Order: sequence, then C-alpha cells, then structure tokens
Amino acid sequence: MIKWVCLKCNSTKLGPSRPRKDDTVRYCLGCSEKSGRLVERMAPTLEKKRMRAAEKGAALRSVRRTRAVRADPSVIDGLDLPLELQRLCAALNFHVPALKVRRGRKSGGSGHAYYRAHRIVMTLLPKGNKASATCLLVHELAHLYAGPRWASSLDGRLLVGERARQIHHGADWRRAYARIALVGYKLEVPTAERYQQGKYFYKELCAKWRLTGSDEDIRAGAL
Ligand SMILES: [Zn+2]
Ligand SMILES: [Zn+2]
Repeated sequence: MIKWVCLKCNSTKLGPSRPRKDDTVRYCLGCSEKSGRLVERMAPTLEKKRMRAAEKGAALRSVRRTRAVRADPSVIDGLDLPLELQRLCAALNFHVPALKVRRGRKSGGSGHAYYRAHRIVMTLLPKGNKASATCLLVHELAHLYAGPRWASSLDGRLLVGERARQIHHGADWRRAYARIALVGYKLEVPTAERYQQGKYFYKELCAKWRLTGSDEDIRAGAL
C-alpha cells in the first residue's frame, strides 16, 4: 500500500500502487464534492519513480546520441567525407558516387571504387588523419572519374595481379588524380609514373593543413 495525497487539502489515504481507474483512492471525494469536479490525488512514491525513470531515459538517450556521433566513421578530424566528396564532384562537374566509410581496426586503410554501382567503399586507417582519409577518397574518386578503361587488357580479358594494379593506376588514373588534387585542393601533383601520386599528395596535404604526417602513415595507408 502507498500514500495517495490530495494536493488541495493535503489529506492522505492509503491505497494500492496500481489502483483501478475508478478506485476512489485516486480522488479526494471531499474536495471533489466542494468543487463540483473530480479532484485527483497523487502518489508521491509513484511520481518519484516516474521522474527517476524519465531522467534515466533522458540520460540513456543522450549517451546513445553521443555514441552515435562518436561512432560516425565518415567524419574524421572534423572533415565530413560525404560532404567533401560532394564538394569535389561539384568542382569536377561529376555525378556524386555513393560513399561508404568504415574504420579499420588493425591493418591499414584501403578503398575500392565500383564503376557500375558508382560507389566508393573506404576503410580508414585506425590512426589516420584527415589527410590520409582525403588521399584515399581522392584515390578512389580518381578511379571513377578516369572510368573503367583499366578493367581489361586489349584482348578483352580481365587483368589480375600486378599488371592489373599497374594499369589500374595508369595514365588515365594519374591524370584524374592530378585533376582532382588541383581542382579540389589547388595542389599540383605530378602525373609521371615515377611519382607515387598518393604519397606526394599526402605530404602536400599535410603541409597545407599543418598536420604531421609520417612515412609510416603512408606505408600503413598504402596510399
Ligand atoms: Zn482534498
Ligand atoms: Zn586504386
């Protein structure tokens, strides 16, 4: 049994904690009689419980909210990669691909561009910064921008292994990469094969954004 209190006359009555809807303990009959309207009693213990539950719920919701923000893998060092991709594509006058960003746990970063689906999937370095993420984004976007010419050799067979990798990152891709770097970041990246565009761009970006990027990042990121 718990106390039911009338807030008008402060009279209390004991009753069950879950009385039926029409249980008279819910109402102060004296005050109801006087005012001509049903005057409800309230149960302080129930009210306290309700408040505690509400607070707990609000706290839980805010924890979930911060976790969700923290867990958004597509924002790195304040750089929103989907927005960055939109910005680049607008500058290139290119149809914006779909983007899926994951965070790597152990190994380095990696990315994949799907030509037919017009989609980019990236796994960022666990300790990567926004420069390494940008490099990866530009790398994959360059594949889509250059188009799928790499995909087969002249006789139409699909290439695999080292040869595919070379052609995959051939002259078309290098030109596309350089164009994105220039249009998107005002940085000139050489297109000659002997330059490793990703490493070059990464160092330039780190300098531009005053980030400390190490060669280790480059190796780990497979830029
Ligand atoms: Zn009363
Ligand atoms: Zn590639």
